[in-house]
Amino acid sequence: MLTPDQKFTAMRGDVELTAEVSPCCFMYGSGLQITVYLPDRGRTYVLKKEIPIKDATEADCHALLETVGVVPCKNCQKPAFDPATCGTTRDGECETCFLDKAMAKFNKSEKDFQEKLVKDDAKHKAKGFTHRVMAWVHPASGDDYQMIIWMVNPSDADIVAQLKKKKSTVTNDYKLIVL
Ligand SMILES: [Zn+2]
Repeated sequence: MLTPDQKFTAMRGDVELTAEVSPCCFMYGSGLQITVYLPDRGRTYVLKKEIPIKDATEADCHALLETVGVVPCKNCQKPAFDPATCGTTRDGECETCFLDKAMAKFNKSEKDFQEKLVKDDAKHKAKGFTHRVMAWVHPASGDDYQMIIWMVNPSDADIVAQLKKKKSTVTNDYKLIVL
């Protein structure tokens, strides 16, 4: 019987893959699944549902690990999972490149958002608005969302009224910005 702390390793050239049986197998008694790691902690999962975890052997884990291929990252040539051999959202990129790209995308959208706010502030100021309200609407069900409105010298009660109109269960989660 396999145990959760067993580790398996395999080499691909000079790259060491490490693997362990995914904790969910033990928790749910499902089919064998292993979690495979690259040295950069990028990870993927491979499974063989037909083998119940209680019957799985070390040899099964090694055989599963053998199915995972490694390719040079399409950006930086460091080891990455071969998307043809295992389920990965990294699409042939190493973990570092993948995370860098995700961060760049996030920063770009944050920058676009801030630039649009600056423009919108100017537009509203020109029309006579004095403040921007950045509020979070907390609906009774569903996700919280941000509400941005421009107002003229609003009192707290004015802002609370706006949030009540949106049926927010919380009416003090806002920031007031002077234009
Ligand atoms: Zn890379």
